[in-house]
Amino acid sequence: MRKRHAIAATGLAVALLCSSGESPLAQQLSSPSVDEALLLAPPADAWITYGRGYDETHHSPLVEIDRSTVGRLGLAWSVDVGNDGKIETTPIVWNGTLYGTGAYSVVYAIDLKTQTLEWRWDPALVRGGYPAGGPRFCCGPVNRGVAIYRGNVYAGLLDGRLVALNAETGRMVWAVQTTPQGSDYSITGAPRVIKGKVIIGNGGAEYGGRGYLSAYDAASGELAWRFYTVPGDPSKPFEDEAQERAAKTWKGEWWKIGGGGHPWDGIAYDPEADLLYFGTGNGSPWNQEHRSPGGGDNLYLSSIVALRPETGKYVWHFQTTPGDNWDYNAAQSLVLADLTIQGRPRKVIMQAPKNGFFYVLDRITGEFISGAPFVNVTWATGLDPKGRPIEAANARYGEAPTRLTPGPGGAHHWPPMAFNPTTQLAYFVGQENGTLYSRAPGVEYQVGRWNTGTNFDFVARGNGGAVGAAPNQTAAAPPPAAAAAASAVTVDPVMRGFLVGWDPIAQKARWRIASPGGGGSLSTAGGLVFGSDGTGRFYALDAATGATLWETRLLPGVATPVTYMFEGKQYVSVMSGSTRGRIFTFVLDGKTPMPSR
Ligand code: CA
Repeated sequence: MRKRHAIAATGLAVALLCSSGESPLAQQLSSPSVDEALLLAPPADAWITYGRGYDETHHSPLVEIDRSTVGRLGLAWSVDVGNDGKIETTPIVWNGTLYGTGAYSVVYAIDLKTQTLEWRWDPALVRGGYPAGGPRFCCGPVNRGVAIYRGNVYAGLLDGRLVALNAETGRMVWAVQTTPQGSDYSITGAPRVIKGKVIIGNGGAEYGGRGYLSAYDAASGELAWRFYTVPGDPSKPFEDEAQERAAKTWKGEWWKIGGGGHPWDGIAYDPEADLLYFGTGNGSPWNQEHRSPGGGDNLYLSSIVALRPETGKYVWHFQTTPGDNWDYNAAQSLVLADLTIQGRPRKVIMQAPKNGFFYVLDRITGEFISGAPFVNVTWATGLDPKGRPIEAANARYGEAPTRLTPGPGGAHHWPPMAFNPTTQLAYFVGQENGTLYSRAPGVEYQVGRWNTGTNFDFVARGNGGAVGAAPNQTAAAPPPAAAAAASAVTVDPVMRGFLVGWDPIAQKARWRIASPGGGGSLSTAGGLVFGSDGTGRFYALDAATGATLWETRLLPGVATPVTYMFEGKQYVSVMSGSTRGRIFTFVLDGKTPMPSR
């Protein structure tokens, strides 16, 4: 029954959109499950992959809810999905069903027709994580979402498994351990399906590890390829030429604590160029003197890397933070767009990584086009003509505490960035924050603990959306002199979180509003940006000006909204609530009262 409803809705939306070149109705009728053709031309009325399309814009062409109607938005329904911790999911909506994830890698499906939980799959990971017996994870038991393809739902789990579930029943089809079992790796990111392969990364640099991106056959779960982001022990054969080249940029015995570089989030794909892009994480340990004594760029840490999706073969890379020393990973969301820059049409890839600079690169060649700070940045004084940061004199801090901005919380973290091709603005939540860094005298690898080789303290606290204050657990408390220096620093009262409308051509903010602890952004052709803050405020802004046009109050902790058509109406759904957890769904003239709790 659900399929019939979904097709009816699809037909209506397609009729509305046929002039804009969206996917034809015939294709959708013959595609009851998401296949390659749909992924290449994502239907306007659905939300079939994490970023809505391979370009990862988190932008919907739907226009029923627009600047003039958004004031009529009200609750249509909400469903309690059960939840035990921090949430970061972007739901997938297809064929009358919404697929989401919660804390501890729980996956669920909601029937849009009956507005009830269709199934809920809980891998029963130990709550509390390690050392309670569960998996290790740096930043909450979060999960950012699933991929759907040919009747399966794919999810990565905190314990490093990748699972395929039957989309109708939630029953497991296959599961594969993508990381060493019981290791310090975790998966929090959403898989993507490209050319029949499920692409998945991992996290865990703080614990000591060697990052990699893997591709598994979507049908069988068989490993197709793996690309390491850091070279291994050079006394053993390198996996590929890219590793051999990267090893020349490292010193010492980096492989003993892994090196880091975990790709835990951003993935995009350009089908025309046939390039898969992903972002890599910070170094492990953080302090480069402990990781690669004497320096070096330490490829491919804190980089955007382009690969061939069928083979995992390296094509190009751009390193945002050479020789990372600050936990400045570049795993953040990657967005593809076609922009005219200085009179020239450019196919670009954009990222706002933790280091505080907004980057626009040529996505075919990896060439740097432009970059500019989107927050107060003190670790670097700017970028050189090739996009390499010009480090401040004190950036490579020693044992004396040194205040640098951004701190390890990053100028932009997990919340997806959206991009509107009409306003040509990128939308994302970030935060102003700084940290006192000091190099620990030494670092001794300890299983299950942070191995950063760095003492640090968030000078600014209070942003629920940031990484959270976690002590370095491999070094003793800072010496009294360091503690005295720390207390003498004037501290920011809060991490000043914001949502910004960033012009990537002019490389400047068009507008910026306060939004501490916010979740991901949704852009729509209705001229709207949906966002949230950590208190549960959920709002719609004018995409051109940042003016608030509508707002409501959800539960503390809001993830990332999506929009879609169902039975002829446009809906907006978002998960909210770090404890319990609900999917809230809004529609024009929705009159359902907010749940009382
Ligand atoms: Ca990190």
